[in-house]
Amino acid sequence: MKFVHEVHQQRVCFDTGAAAERLVEEVARLSATRVMVIATSSSRAAAERITAGLPVAHWHDDVVMHVPVEVAERARAAAKGMDALVSVGGGSTTGLAKAVALTSGLPIVAVPTTYAGSEATAVWGLTEGTRKTTGTDPRVLPRSIVYDASLTTGLPVAMSVASGLNALAHCVDSMWAPNTDPIDQALAGEGIRALRTGLPKVVAAPEDLPGREEVLYAAYLAAAAFASAGSGLHHKICHVLGGMFALPHAQTHAVVLPHVLALNGPAAPAAQERIAAALAQPLPELLATLGAPRALRDLGMPADGIPAAVDAILPVAPASNPAPVTEETMTELLRAAWEGTR
Ligand code: NAD
Repeated sequence: MKFVHEVHQQRVCFDTGAAAERLVEEVARLSATRVMVIATSSSRAAAERITAGLPVAHWHDDVVMHVPVEVAERARAAAKGMDALVSVGGGSTTGLAKAVALTSGLPIVAVPTTYAGSEATAVWGLTEGTRKTTGTDPRVLPRSIVYDASLTTGLPVAMSVASGLNALAHCVDSMWAPNTDPIDQALAGEGIRALRTGLPKVVAAPEDLPGREEVLYAAYLAAAAFASAGSGLHHKICHVLGGMFALPHAQTHAVVLPHVLALNGPAAPAAQERIAAALAQPLPELLATLGAPRALRDLGMPADGIPAAVDAILPVAPASNPAPVTEETMTELLRAAWEGTR
């Protein structure tokens, strides 16, 4: 074995039902006295409850998926005079906090309420028109994460499934992404296992905490693996599709994942074996149990968009992808994902 694995310096606090107490501790560690809380209006009640013990100086609820630059600029202006950011929400909310941290250097304490995993990566994203730009900067990595599964019980089942499959995609793609190493693969394997056991519990009993805890734990592992391994073919495809056709993020990942696994699996037998062992059942079977979204056409992608998407994917596909990435293989993959064939 020969590899270099870089570890993020970040506190990861997992404490179901105790986000309020954990937040007081984490914000005190930053010696912050003027906190800006970022949370959508629908998360406001939960956010108010868990930030009651903090020196909150400003509330910001102007959150939009994929962080349009004008939304980022408004948040940056609002953050003037603050000394810390607390984000309470999904990847869109965490993403806005990161956009502020990118230019201000303000520390973030992230409280995730979906399974997107942005809180565990140093990746930021900004959108100008239809063009999304991403980058990596240590300043945007939250200093602390507070995971409280009780904050996720209100996430609707369909969104929970899509978001959980977004985490599964981080795990699967980490098995062959350009910088993958045995540590990423170990994290990803355990992430897959916990998603396989946790997600059906969430679907069966969305209010119950054990399933929610397993999936949230997996979301962290998935993001930690992805942060180190980088974007594989799956993430490149989803990035192109999301930007080009304004498709919903988590659902796009959920739909594309089985098709990338079908393409890459046979070309990467060791990764496929690891994934199969962790899944303990064929992926399409799990997807059927979960009632996962199936087709890109249902998400709003036009059929005549496939050639343009293929043209955009080919130049960004990782050279190290296990299976050949050609006009033919990508057209076939996108056609199957568009139709929702298994
Ligand atoms: P999201 O944050 O937009 O949330 C989806 C929906 O769920 C929203 O309507 C939100 O209000 C609602 N919601 C969130 N938590 C809820 C809860 N507990 N109960 C009820 N409703 C709730 O979507 P997402 O999938 O979490 O994040 C997607 C964004 O995150 C994309 O922009 C994506 O690019 C980004 N992302 C970034 C990274 C990274 O490493 N930088 C990783 C993953 C995702």
